[in-house]
Amino acid sequence: MKAIVLEKPEQFVTAEIEAPGDPGVGEALVRVHRVGICGTDVSGYLGKMPFFTYPVVPGHELGVEVIKVGEGVENVRPGDRCSVEPYMNCQECFACRNGNTNCCESLEVIGVHKDGGMCEQFVLPARKLHASEKLTMDQLALVETLGIGCHCVDRAATSEGEKVLVIGAGPIGLAVIEFLKVAKAEITVMDMNETRLTFCKDRLGVDHTVVFKGDDSEVERLKDVNGGELPTTVIDATGSHVSMSNAFQYAAFTGQVVYVGI
Ligand SMILES: [Zn+2]
Ligand SMILES: [Zn+2]
Repeated sequence: MKAIVLEKPEQFVTAEIEAPGDPGVGEALVRVHRVGICGTDVSGYLGKMPFFTYPVVPGHELGVEVIKVGEGVENVRPGDRCSVEPYMNCQECFACRNGNTNCCESLEVIGVHKDGGMCEQFVLPARKLHASEKLTMDQLALVETLGIGCHCVDRAATSEGEKVLVIGAGPIGLAVIEFLKVAKAEITVMDMNETRLTFCKDRLGVDHTVVFKGDDSEVERLKDVNGGELPTTVIDATGSHVSMSNAFQYAAFTGQVVYVGI
């Protein structure tokens, strides 16, 4: 079976690897149709992502088709087209028992800590598959990214009309914005990159944009566009520790700061 292997930073090879066996109890064998490229993959390629183990078959944003299911699998059937939840959790630790499966003590992300989807087929727990009759394979591969935005907005529990600032208009920031629109928040986006801000305004229809200049003028400019007040929810989607520290000064008193990504 063919696979793309990241042998070490900055070195991809096309390799022949052992084909997966039959799915075991609770597992499914899937064929990979689409693989999205995440910022994490780019960092892993450059050797800047501490969670990456090498060699690894990357790929965690996936659109797959179920080929075969093991005993006891009821949520998917052969032929189903699915998105993949790439976060493998133990189901037993404190975090897992409380439903915070993304915070599992022994979390392993396929395509990061262990082999992922840049191969023809692989076996995974069927409970990590989410079937759709409507979505295309391209769309299914984007569900994981959008899921992060959805989870963030769920955690923030914003109310209709609430003033919310999103810092960082990269892919995760855009995913957050999509779900803030569903929640009918009043959205301000801040980024250093004016092209990204123009995209947010013209294509996503956000209410306000603020260019980050790093000259301490941000608080005043945020107030200007928000009717003299600071946002009550600030969501940092940059993963930058500098930005994450700055985030506190942009929130209104009694407001909340939410971090997405690390
Ligand atoms: Zn990712
Ligand atoms: Zn766990």
